[in-house]
Amino acid sequence: EGEDTQADIYMTVDAGNLATAAEQGIFQPLDSDVLNEAIPESLRDPDNQWFALSARARTIVYSPERVSADELPTTYEELAEPEWEGRVCLRNSTNAYTQSLVARLIGSRGYDETLEIVEGWANNAEILPNDMVQLFSVADGLCDVAITNHYYLARVYEDDPDFPVDLVWVDQEDRGVHVNISGAGVTRFADDPELAQQLIEWLATDGQSAFVDGNHEYPVNPDVEPDALVVAEFGDTFVADPLNPAEYGLLNAEAVRLLDEAGYE
Ligand code: FE
Repeated sequence: EGEDTQADIYMTVDAGNLATAAEQGIFQPLDSDVLNEAIPESLRDPDNQWFALSARARTIVYSPERVSADELPTTYEELAEPEWEGRVCLRNSTNAYTQSLVARLIGSRGYDETLEIVEGWANNAEILPNDMVQLFSVADGLCDVAITNHYYLARVYEDDPDFPVDLVWVDQEDRGVHVNISGAGVTRFADDPELAQQLIEWLATDGQSAFVDGNHEYPVNPDVEPDALVVAEFGDTFVADPLNPAEYGLLNAEAVRLLDEAGYE
């Protein structure tokens, strides 16, 4: 839309989407003390074009009935191993969440090692169209483990506190669980950039709980507590991968190529 855009703010999920928007010149950089103070540096664009407003961890969920404590996987890589053949559900390759997780693996392990891991996943897994289907597939016995965003499980618990699927935080001894974000920035051709900036500042501060609690996400502002259900079920903290989500955007094209090369649908 360029100059004709009606939008003063572009807001979306997934760091890859935000990075793509930044690359396409959709945003204007913001010089905001409020945002710099409220949002950790690792959760903002290095050029201040976009700012994360909520955090979602993509981690392993499992059936406590069919996965024993000593075989419980605690890394993404383990799900590529032969003993998990036919026991894994994963999300499809065209999904941004899958692409960003693979981009994160490329960022930490390089292309060739990641290719081996993703080939193992493709061999072991039933590929499903969305995270909710994955959760119900674990509950119903189609698979024993899956990789989903934490808030989908929180949503299910809201209706069914006894839902027979549990979550484990991945890579807690190592580099931390893969965290993706939702976020926003002010568009380059915004009619009222000051007002738009104020809205983003509010969402990162006084409006954080209002923004994140409805979807059971984690606040990006360290002064704000997650909602009660999230704290009770998953705890108020975990070790998060320190890689700036902007990297997922830069590595997105490689991730897409790798998924294709691995035969991962
Ligand atoms: Fe989602």
